[in-house]
Amino acid sequence: MAKRILIVEDEEKIARFVELELRHEGYEVGKAANGREGLEACLSDKYDLVLLDIMLPEINGLEVLRRLRKTSSLPVILLTARDEVMDKVAGLDGGADDYITKPFAIEELLARIRLVFKKAEPLKETARDARDKADMLPSESNPDIYSFGELQLNTKRYEVCFADEKVELTNREFELLRILLENKNIVLTRDVLMNKVCGYDFVGETNVIDVYIRYLRTKIDERFGIKMIQTVRGVGYVIREE
Ligand code: CA
Repeated sequence: MAKRILIVEDEEKIARFVELELRHEGYEVGKAANGREGLEACLSDKYDLVLLDIMLPEINGLEVLRRLRKTSSLPVILLTARDEVMDKVAGLDGGADDYITKPFAIEELLARIRLVFKKAEPLKETARDARDKADMLPSESNPDIYSFGELQLNTKRYEVCFADEKVELTNREFELLRILLENKNIVLTRDVLMNKVCGYDFVGETNVIDVYIRYLRTKIDERFGIKMIQTVRGVGYVIREE
């Protein structure tokens, strides 16, 4: 069955262009031109993914996202303007799955959409698997588990725990932590992290990584009183084995 995508965008030209391209790719497409209609459509259960503009009349995109996330995990890709770095971070932190900066190449948008769908699929299965295997304890020999002291990151379950406490991370925070743990003792530059976390070139916006590092430190280092992520001044970040 064709995947259904909702476009919430008040600029008719952009909405129409994206709609045609998505239909051409075989997606079913719906549109909403303001935040209120967009939120209603998001909650209608008719869609598999939403492209959500941030600057919208009536209810802005971030607020739509906030209300949507109270009850729904519907995948969301934000459409943002180039100068909205803090909005992007707020959006991702608020549960958006990805964002794309306008103006964008349609091929890039299509790639992001495929990636979000790909990510969403195994996650559904993982939730079932996790219930089936709830009594299976993670171990150091399991390549799906990365650890640092009492911290464990499970890529299969998409879970992070410290001792027995669960740590709630956004997709991007999880991905960033996974990459740092996977490359333990190797200093990674902001550019490398940006490319690995976001999958493409974010020239001039690598400060987004600093913001995520701050979030990770608040959620893990500060909360559990550890020093996990180290800053290498002028270079980047590293997690070192003690
Ligand atoms: Ca707009």
